[in-house]
Amino acid sequence: MTRCLFTSLSIAVAITFSSHPIFGQAPGAAKKMELDSPLLQPWTGPHGGVPPWNLVRSEEFVTAFDAAISESNAEIKAITDNKDEPNFENTIVAMERAGRTLSRLEAIFFVYTSNLNVGPIPDIEKVIVPKLSEYEDSVYQNKELFARISAVYESPAMKNGSFDLAQRRLVDDTYKTFLRKGAKLDRSDKAKLSQMNTRLARLFTDFSQNVLADENGYVTWIKDKSELTGLPDSVVAAMSNAAQDRNNKDGDWAITNTRSSMDPFLTYSSNRPLREKVWRNYYSRGDNGDKYDNNKIIAEILKIRAARAKLLGYETHAHWRMEPTMAKKPEAAMDLMMKVWPKALARVREEVADMQAIADEEGAKLKIEPWDYRYYAEKVRKAKYDLDFNEVKPYLQLDKLREAMMWAATQLYGLHFKQLSGIPVFHPDVTVWEVTDADGKHVGLWYLDPYAREGKRSGAWMTDYRAQENMGKPITTIVSNNSNFIKGADGEAVLISWDDAVTLFHEFGHALHGLLSKVNYRSQSGTSVARDYVEFPSQINEHWLETPEILNQFAVHHKTGEPIPQELLDKIKKASTFNQGFDTVEYLASALIDMKLHLAGSDDIDPDAFERETLAAMDMPSELPMRHRTPHFMHIFSGDSYSAGYYSYLWADALTADAAERFVEAGSFYDKDVAKSLHDNVMSIGDTIDPAEGFRRFRGRDVDTSALLRKRGFPVD
Ligand SMILES: [Zn+2]
Repeated sequence: MTRCLFTSLSIAVAITFSSHPIFGQAPGAAKKMELDSPLLQPWTGPHGGVPPWNLVRSEEFVTAFDAAISESNAEIKAITDNKDEPNFENTIVAMERAGRTLSRLEAIFFVYTSNLNVGPIPDIEKVIVPKLSEYEDSVYQNKELFARISAVYESPAMKNGSFDLAQRRLVDDTYKTFLRKGAKLDRSDKAKLSQMNTRLARLFTDFSQNVLADENGYVTWIKDKSELTGLPDSVVAAMSNAAQDRNNKDGDWAITNTRSSMDPFLTYSSNRPLREKVWRNYYSRGDNGDKYDNNKIIAEILKIRAARAKLLGYETHAHWRMEPTMAKKPEAAMDLMMKVWPKALARVREEVADMQAIADEEGAKLKIEPWDYRYYAEKVRKAKYDLDFNEVKPYLQLDKLREAMMWAATQLYGLHFKQLSGIPVFHPDVTVWEVTDADGKHVGLWYLDPYAREGKRSGAWMTDYRAQENMGKPITTIVSNNSNFIKGADGEAVLISWDDAVTLFHEFGHALHGLLSKVNYRSQSGTSVARDYVEFPSQINEHWLETPEILNQFAVHHKTGEPIPQELLDKIKKASTFNQGFDTVEYLASALIDMKLHLAGSDDIDPDAFERETLAAMDMPSELPMRHRTPHFMHIFSGDSYSAGYYSYLWADALTADAAERFVEAGSFYDKDVAKSLHDNVMSIGDTIDPAEGFRRFRGRDVDTSALLRKRGFPVD
C-alpha cells in the first residue's frame, strides 16, 4: 500500500541540508561569530548527547545559523587550504567530519518548522531557508573544493582496489552530486544558478506556509447534534476534542482541514452537503484565489526548474532529478506507472459500479461524486465482505500498536525498546525511547510525536536528529516518528483507523532503517538512500501489522481486553485488495501529474488548467480526486527533493511486494533467515551499495513487478 505521507519531505530536508555534510566558501573574513547560544553547543546528556529542546530560544535561530554557517565555512576552508595532495582522508573524510554544528542546528530548527510552526517561526523560516540555499550553492560551486574531489575521483586509488566498495561509492556520489549541482559551470552561470536556487527556496517556503495556512484556516463546525448522523463515537469524540481546542468557537464539534479529520468524516457521515463542504475545503487547499493561493507560485517554480535543468545541461527537470535514482530515467518510472494505470482505472470502474448500485438501491438518487466515494466504498465493504472498519477500530489502540511494532522489531532484528524519562522534549506529548540490540548494546534513541496540533504539518513522517556513523568513533542515531492522531478524551485509549495503523508501521519502518544502520560514513547512513528506494524499508514494515502474531496479541479491545475475533481477521484478510482502484488511482494521478509537469519544459504553465487537461487526457475518473492536488502537493513544491519523484512510492512498492513474497514463500513473516537477509542486505547497509544490488542479494534476482499487481489484486498479464 502506498501510504507514505511526509516522510519524504523530512528526508528531503535531511538530504538537502543535514545528512550530506555541506560546507561553504569562507567569506572574505573568516571571523568567528561569538554567540553563546545552547543552539551552537555540542549536545549533552546520555548516549552521545540529546537535542536540548528545553534550552531553545527561537529568537536565537537566525544568529545561530549565521554562526554555524560561518563555522562550516571555516572548516571547508581548512580542507581547501590543505597543502597536501588531495586524498580520500584529507578531502572526502574531512568533508564527512565537517558541518556538525550546522547539522545539529538544522535538526532542531526543522522540528520547529514541521512540528511547531507557530508564533515567530514562519517568519524566521523565511529568513533561514534562503541562507541555507545560498550556503549550499557556495559549497557546490567551490572551485578549490571541487578540484580536490575531482583529484580523488580520478586518482588511481579509485581503480586499483585501495578503496573498499563503500568508499568508492562515496567518492563517486560526492563527485557526481557536485557535477549535478553545477560545479563545472562558469562563473556567470554559477551566479545564475544561485539566483534560481535562492528564489526557489523562498517559493518553497511560501508554498508550504500557504498550505499550512489553509489547513489551519478552514474548520467545518457542527452545532446541531442531528448533523452527526452516521459518525461512529470515536470520530464524534475526536471532533468534540478539536472543537474544545478551539474553545467551541462556532459549535460543539469541529472537522479540521487535515487528512486525519477529513477522511473519517467522509467515510461515515451520511450528511451529503456537509461531506461536500469538508471535501471542498480539503481539496481546495492552496487553491482558493486568496492570499494563500499557490497557483502563481507553482507556475514560477516550474519555470525556474525548467530553466535550471537547461542551464545544467539536462533535457528537463525530471531528467536532472532522476539521474541519481534507482529508476535513473523518467521513461523507466513512466513505464511502471503506465503498466499499472489502466488496470487501476478498470478497477475504479468496477468499484464505482458497485457503489452506484448501492446508492440506487437505497433510492439515494445521486451520481457518485468524489465526496461520496469513501462513504459508499464503506457500504460496499460491508455488503461484499461483511466488514465494518468501525468494528475493527475498538481493537486498534495507538499504545498497543506501538507495542506491536516494537515487538515485531524484536522478533525480526533483536531490537528492544525502553521508554526514558527526563530527556528534554519539544512538546509534552513527545516520548523518548532507548533502543538496544540483542546483546543489550545501545543502538539509538527513538522519539515519538503522535498527536495533531496547530502548527504541525499534516500527515506522518520520519526524520533523524542525528545519523549513525562510525569513522573511528561510533556515533549512534536519534530518529523520530511524527503523526497527526487525534487525541481521545482524557484517560481514554486513542483508537486509530486501520489505514492509520498501516501508516504507523510504515513510518516505524523508516525509523528502523535509521536505527539498524551500520555504516561508516554519515552521507551513506540509514535513510540517505535513493529516494525511489527509501520507501522500500518502510513499506515492507507495513506487512507485519496484518500478521496473526501481531493482531492476536496486540489488537485487543480497548474496554474488554479481548483479542480481535478470528472472524473479523478473516474478513480483513479477504478484503485486503478492496478499494485498490481508489487507492492506486488517487496516488498515480498525483504521481503522473508530477512527472508530466516536470517533463513539460519551460512554457508558462497554468497549474489548474494543466491538471484538468492532463487528467482528462489520462481518462481520470470524475468520481475521485488526486491524492494531492497540484496547489497543495507538498512533496513536490515544498522542496526539490521529491519533485519528479512521487512515483517513488510505486517503484518502492514493486520492490516491497516482491520482497514480501519471499517471506510468504518461506512460510512466515518471522522467518529468521529471511529476516536476517533483509537486515544484512537492506536495513543495515544504508547507501553503501547500489540499491539494485542490495535487492538482488536479498531476493536472489532482480525485481519482478508482477508481484506488485498481485499485491493490489490486479490481473497479471
Ligand atoms: Zn515513507
